[in-house]
Amino acid sequence: MRQDQNKNTIPGFDLGRQNCILHNDLIECISGIIKNGKFILGENVELLEKNISRYCGAAYGIGVASGSDALYLSLSALEIGPGDEVITTPFSFFATAGSISRVGAKPVFVDINPETFNIDVNLIEKKINRKTRAIIPVHLYGCPADMKEIFSITESHNIKIIEDAAQALGASYNKHRTGSLGDTGCFSFFPTKNLGSFGDGGMIVTNNIELAEKIRLLRVHGSKKKYFHDFLGFNSRLDELQAAVLNVKFKYLEQWTKRRRVIARLYNVLLKEQIDKGRIHVKLPLEPDNALHVYHQYTIQTQRRNQLQRYLHERGIGSTVYYPSPLHLQKAFSFLGHKHGDYPVSERACSEVLSLPVYPELTDEEVIRVVEAVVDFF
Ligand SMILES: *Cc1c(COP(=O)(O)O)cnc(C)c1O
Repeated sequence: MRQDQNKNTIPGFDLGRQNCILHNDLIECISGIIKNGKFILGENVELLEKNISRYCGAAYGIGVASGSDALYLSLSALEIGPGDEVITTPFSFFATAGSISRVGAKPVFVDINPETFNIDVNLIEKKINRKTRAIIPVHLYGCPADMKEIFSITESHNIKIIEDAAQALGASYNKHRTGSLGDTGCFSFFPTKNLGSFGDGGMIVTNNIELAEKIRLLRVHGSKKKYFHDFLGFNSRLDELQAAVLNVKFKYLEQWTKRRRVIARLYNVLLKEQIDKGRIHVKLPLEPDNALHVYHQYTIQTQRRNQLQRYLHERGIGSTVYYPSPLHLQKAFSFLGHKHGDYPVSERACSEVLSLPVYPELTDEEVIRVVEAVVDFF
């Protein structure tokens, strides 16, 4: 059950509130699995695959062990490997580019658009060469990347699109749900995501039956018939316990997304008022005209980010920096030979972004208190 916490604190993220409401349903579904004893690839995974693929408007869904593996298996299924290049953004979670390196291909970074934090479509074309096999656009913070431009660029070059939709389940672009637009769409059910399990989990959605079948085999050691292996695969499965928890939570996803959007609108209105009066100096997140943002994060920008975060912390308000370092400057990617200044927009974002609390259970009153604290700081 929910731990008692100081009434005056507003955590940056709090799963306890959600789990408390769903407690009985969750216990029931978990004890059902303990009773039936089927833990790997059973009816709960199948149901979740149906739920998520249908919800996204994609033909197939394949449950896998994590969002990171969803990216890795997508690249593997497309037979991308050593000698190939994959374009992506340096302003994302590590796994986006990590998956490219894990298959032996080279991550090629393209800087971001400062308004959306997503890949800058005007800079993609010059990074394309004969080795370019795919692009991984990330719908960062739940805001869809500019897919129309990405399509028009990739079409003429025969480049595959793998959507990193880990933060964007339920978002849409020109009325199409993110994840259903590319060759594959990759989701994560990490506990803090908009639909989160009680551990690791992920899903790939696709409209391509051959890719779907290949990925289905890849997640079970490349084997169609038990103990007979057609090619080298992996062990990357979503387990029944996680799938059962996710099926319970899935029923609330639309309602939770609506609430996230209401909270974002409230932040927008209250903060905009203060900006217009010249009382605060922050930049607000943008929702592009043709897109539906699901506000996995509500992320503002300010040059005084660290001081603001410290001040909020002192007032008992949690906030988070996603991400403090861009991928091209990570030690793990030092072999790529990048340096400071290579991707200036991403580097600047890393020093200026701050994500304020946004989760469905957050109250209007708490949002008002966060805004008051921001105003007091300035
Ligand atoms: C969470 C996340 C991932 C990885 O998902 P895991 O399930 O944690 O492996 C990949 N990309 C982005 C953008 C993410 O936010």
